[in-house]
Parts: sequence; structure tokens; C-alpha cells
Amino acid sequence: MKISLIIPCYNEAEALPTFYGELDRVTREMSDYEFELLFIDDGSKDKTLEILKEKAAQDSRVTYISFSRNFGKEAAMYAGFCNVTGDYAATMDADMQDPPSLLPEMMKILETGEYDSVATRRETRKGEPKVRSFFARRFYKLMKRISDVDIVDGARDFRLMKRSMVDSIVSMSESNRFSKGIFGWIGFKTYWLPYENVERVAGKSKWSFWKLLKYSFEGIFNFSDAPLKFASWTGFFFMFVSLVMTLVVFIRTLAFGDPVSGWPSLVCIILFVGGVQLFCLGVIGQYISKIYKETKRRPQYIVAQTNKEDIVKK
Ligand code: UDP
Ligand code: MG
Repeated sequence: MKISLIIPCYNEAEALPTFYGELDRVTREMSDYEFELLFIDDGSKDKTLEILKEKAAQDSRVTYISFSRNFGKEAAMYAGFCNVTGDYAATMDADMQDPPSLLPEMMKILETGEYDSVATRRETRKGEPKVRSFFARRFYKLMKRISDVDIVDGARDFRLMKRSMVDSIVSMSESNRFSKGIFGWIGFKTYWLPYENVERVAGKSKWSFWKLLKYSFEGIFNFSDAPLKFASWTGFFFMFVSLVMTLVVFIRTLAFGDPVSGWPSLVCIILFVGGVQLFCLGVIGQYISKIYKETKRRPQYIVAQTNKEDIVKK
């Protein structure tokens, strides 16, 4: 049995040696299995690729795919899934936040045959900025309500899965990728393994608050049409309000005559409704831009260098 590990790396030169050391130790302990360590260099600007080449020269299990520029973690994971050959596969971060030491336990759970994948979930958000945790929690609550896929709070992308699941992920070739949604959408039986949050061992997180916020919108627009429904319902609401108001004005005019007044309130109403219309147009625009991106069918990543033969390009 062969286990493939997919490790997206973007400027991880500082963390890689520690990570590789630990991974090497854990994988050698799991001597019943063959391993493939597929590192995806996502257009790093530091020495990441050099380190990967060095490791590949020493360790025949190491393969790498290096992108022509930074395409993002989603693209890197997809490139990994498209190119792994194992009976099992897992994605994991290069910063030790997805501890390799969990692998034996995860594999044991899969071996029982009861589950198709073992996913990990952070029980705490220790060491994370408070604001970030707060918004993350809100996001997962909202997602649960407005989308039909199951997205678990604190879920990490670190999960070990069977080949059939990998094939399903590869078959979802959409260019607007949101892995947490994709994992949920394809289904299969998943065991959730909780663990304590670990802080990254070296280097910096690549996610600023704004990048995360953008990513969460990505999740909402890719896996829910609730914003569109919201737009229609707001329209409906205002139509109703205006009908009632017309009626009120009509009756009042009949009863009390028609003194001209109230233009400030009129301006406010026009501005407000104008704002709502623009907002709803913006919501529709978001979906149109997704359609636009999807129809271009551009490749999701471009490989510049690799030590792998017959690479799959998607
Ligand atoms: N990563 C990547 N491309 C990017 C950003 C991040 O491949 O554009 C990788 C990064 O090298 C790491 C993983 O994705 O292995 C998670 O990134 P990070 O640790 O910065 O995210 P956090 O754990 O803070 O959410
Ligand atoms: Mg991290």
C-alpha cells in the first residue's frame, strides 16, 4: 500500500527542514507502507525550491512540482491531487500546523475500513488573533445555514483519504476552488479527528485578515446561492413596502388634501433604494464574474520545473 502526501509550499524555506525531518521520522516508522512525498512549490521567492531539489536528490520518495508563479494553495493542492499515485493521499501544510505525528493514528482509523477519509479539526484556536477567530466562527455558522454542503468549524485541509475520494476531487475541475466545500460536496464517510492547535514552527502565515475575508466570500459564492435569494427577497420586500405606502398616501390625500411637503424624506428613500439596487447588482456581478472565470477554462496552474515524469496538467 502506498500513501501519497501532498505538501503545498510557498516561501517555506525556514520551516521545510524541520518539517521534512519530522515527516521523515514518522514515515520511516510506518514501515508497512510505501510513501510518496509530493511537494508543490507554489512560486516561492525564497530557497524553497533549492531545498526541495536537495531533498529529492537524497530521498527517492521526494518529488516536486514547481509552479511558474504563485497560483495559491487551492491550485497547489489540486496539482497534488492530479499527480499522486498512492492508494491513499493526504494534503498537509509545510509549517507543522498539520502534525505529521497524527498520520499513524489516521491510517489506523482508515484501516478499519469503516471510513473513506480521516479529516482533522482544530479543537481550539489557541495562538490565533482574537478577531480572526471571531470572524472564522461567524463564517462557519453562516456557511452551515446558507449552503447545502457540510463545512465543519475548525476543519483543516489536512485529511487522509482513499483513492476513490482523490479521483472524485480531481473530477471536480472547476477553476473557482474552495477545498473545504469540495471535500464536503463529494461526500463519503469521514471521521473527524480533533487535535490541539499548533503554532507554525517558522516563517510567517501567508494569510492576512483581508486575504482570509476574501477567501470566505469565495466559499460563500462558490457553494451557496443565498446572496442571490437575498437580492430577490429584498426586492420583494421593497415592492411590498411601496405598495403599502402608496395606499397610505392615497387615503391621506383623499382625507386631508395634498399639501406639498416631505421632499427630504423622498430623497432619502430614493438614495436608499438606489443603494439596495446597486448592492444587488453587485451580488449578481459576483456570480457573473465566477461564470466568466469558469468559461475561460484557463489552466489552474503552470508547471515550470519538476522531477516527475508524465505530469498531469490541468
Ligand atoms: N501556501 C501555498 N500557496 C499560497 C499560500 C500558502 O502553497 O499562496 C501553503 C503554505 O506554504 C503552507 C500552507 O499553504 O504550507 C498553509 O499556509 P499558512 O501556514 O500560511 O496558512 P495558515 O496555517 O496560517 O492558515
Ligand atoms: Mg499554517
